[in-house]
Amino acid sequence: MPELEPRPGDLSSCLRDWSGPTPLLVRSGGTSSRSRDPVLWSLDLRTHCRELQLSDDGHRVRVGAGVTMAELQRHLAPAGRSIPTGLSGLPGAGYLLTGGISPLSRSQGLAIDRILALEGVWGDGEPLVLTAEQSTSADGHASDAWRGLLGAAPFLAVVSAIELRTTPRQPLQIARALVSPDQLAEWIQRAETWPDGLSLQWFWSERIEILLVAIEVDAPSVQAWAACQPQLARLPGAVVERIDGLEALPPFGALARCPLQRAPVAQEVLGLLAPAWGAATPALIQVARQAMAQRPDPGCALASQQLGGATARVPATATSFVHRQAIWKPWITAAWPAADPAARQRSLAWLLQLRDQLRPHCPGVHLAQLHDHLPWHGWELKAAFGDWLPGLRRLKAQHDRHRLLPGL
Ligand SMILES: Cc1cc2nc3c(=O)[nH]c(=O)nc-3n(C[C@H](O)[C@H](O)[C@H](O)COP(=O)(O)OP(=O)(O)OC[C@H]3O[C@@H](n4cnc5c(N)ncnc54)[C@H](O)[C@@H]3O)c2cc1C
Repeated sequence: MPELEPRPGDLSSCLRDWSGPTPLLVRSGGTSSRSRDPVLWSLDLRTHCRELQLSDDGHRVRVGAGVTMAELQRHLAPAGRSIPTGLSGLPGAGYLLTGGISPLSRSQGLAIDRILALEGVWGDGEPLVLTAEQSTSADGHASDAWRGLLGAAPFLAVVSAIELRTTPRQPLQIARALVSPDQLAEWIQRAETWPDGLSLQWFWSERIEILLVAIEVDAPSVQAWAACQPQLARLPGAVVERIDGLEALPPFGALARCPLQRAPVAQEVLGLLAPAWGAATPALIQVARQAMAQRPDPGCALASQQLGGATARVPATATSFVHRQAIWKPWITAAWPAADPAARQRSLAWLLQLRDQLRPHCPGVHLAQLHDHLPWHGWELKAAFGDWLPGLRRLKAQHDRHRLLPGL
């Protein structure tokens, strides 16, 4: 697991002079399988890319790539500001650069929709300093470079710092409970009618956990939230609470998982994107039910986040997150005991089988975890970027000529 800990100022010479094996990996939060590798080198940004600067009015924050989302929210909270972070505070810049789907995305957009400026180096070592202002025309048309970096940066550049637009931190009402597969199908269908200030997340492993997140001051969501309470109250394990902001979300999936007493696991995660499932939901859940009954490892799981609203109001051509009409982001986790190749094979085969079964209802991919080391990387790129993939490949040929970064 060889690692370098470059300072932002060293990144350019590091990439220009690189003669080691490729791809060169990058580690920001270090939460994904592709941030490190037994034989490939990683640029670990956690040591020296640690800036955190809030503007005087609190409306902009400059964040180093090695800062976690929990650290960022902790910095913003005393000023009453926030950004739409995800279900965990552990990820770093990887979350911000690959889309960034939050329980508040339906009202506040994706994390990439908050990016005001990016700093770092392209794959060929050329310094990169881009701002939204300079990169977007008056009619809202983004330059190819800007569009490429918002959602596909890991293939093109090493980003050392990001400037983000913040918004007021909002108190939230949250509810967690356990449901049966049939009840899950009902909650999914109900959630497809909700206002933007209310979202449904679910996590299915040993049991099925649902997590509802509502913005407290948003009148339509308060009304929809109130309508959910009678059903919620009847569910086992139901906990309803108020939290001050996203950073206080409880660990997602904790109710659904059995605590495992065993050696460390390895895992790969595939994120899909789907339109509203509507009347197809019960059949889809039936497929999932069969797959979950055949999980090869207790760490294997199926989960989902809800999109829509603000995420759909950004044009598909503005960023590399092209599936703007998606309503659901289901993700499949394949897990196995580390250093057990046969178990790895079984779990990855299970993941692919479930992917194929879900695919008619989940045509897109959210490339939050890279799989350039797996045979389905080519399929995944097409499903993630669609018609924009040739444009990204042109950018790669221009800015990462020696293909130091993961293949596109
Ligand atoms: C517990 C948990 C909860 C999550 N919840 C959500 C969620 O709610 N919503 C959501 O959208 N996603 C979620 N994710 C997925 C997560 O956002 C992505 O996997 C993200 O890429 C991880 O960020 P990271 O900083 O840890 O990246 P790393 O694991 O460090 O790197 C991920 C990839 O991005 C590349 N990369 C990382 N940093 C840079 C950089 N600075 N410049 C260029 N390339 C870079 C690396 O090459 C690597 O392949 C979750 C992940 C975990 C582990």
